[in-house]
Amino acid sequence: PIEPWYIGGPVIKGFGRGSKVLGIPTANLSTESFSALELPSGVYFGWAGLANRGIYKMEPWLLHDFNEDFYGEDLRLVVVGYIRAEANFSSIESLVAKIHEDRKIAENALELPSYLKYRDDPYLNTSL
Ligand code: ADP
Ligand code: MG
Repeated sequence: PIEPWYIGGPVIKGFGRGSKVLGIPTANLSTESFSALELPSGVYFGWAGLANRGIYKMEPWLLHDFNEDFYGEDLRLVVVGYIRAEANFSSIESLVAKIHEDRKIAENALELPSYLKYRDDPYLNTSL
C-alpha cells in the first residue's frame, strides 16, 4: 500500500479518440492543479468520484460504462495502490491485453478492506 494521493479538477480534452477507439478512454486532468512530478511513473489504481454521478474504481480509466462523455465535470481521484512500472510494448494488441490485466488486478485489489475503505473518503463526495 502507498500513502494515498488526492488529485482533482475538471476533466480536460486530450489529443483525441485513440484510447476510446480501443475501448480504454482515459479521463485527463490538468497537471497544473497538482504536482505529480516527484512520484514514480507507473500504473496505479484507486477510486474516482465524478461530481453528480457517483464513485467508481479507476486505473486510471474509470472502470464503469458511461453513456456519454463528461468533459468539464469535476473529477476527484484517490490513488491508493501501485500495480507496475511503465513498459514498452511491441504491439497495440499486447498493450491492450496488459491494460485489461491491469484492470482485473485493480478491480480485485479494490475489494480488499485496506483499499475498499477509501471508497468512503469524503474527498470523493464533496460535490455530489
Ligand atoms: P481524451 O484524449 O480527450 O482524454 P479519450 O479517448 O482518452 O479522450 O476519452 C476520455 C474521455 O472519455 C473522458 O474525458 C470522458 O469524457 C469520456 N469517458 C467516457 N467513459 C469513460 C470512462 N469509463 N473512463 C474515462 N473516461 C470516459
Ligand atoms: Mg484521455
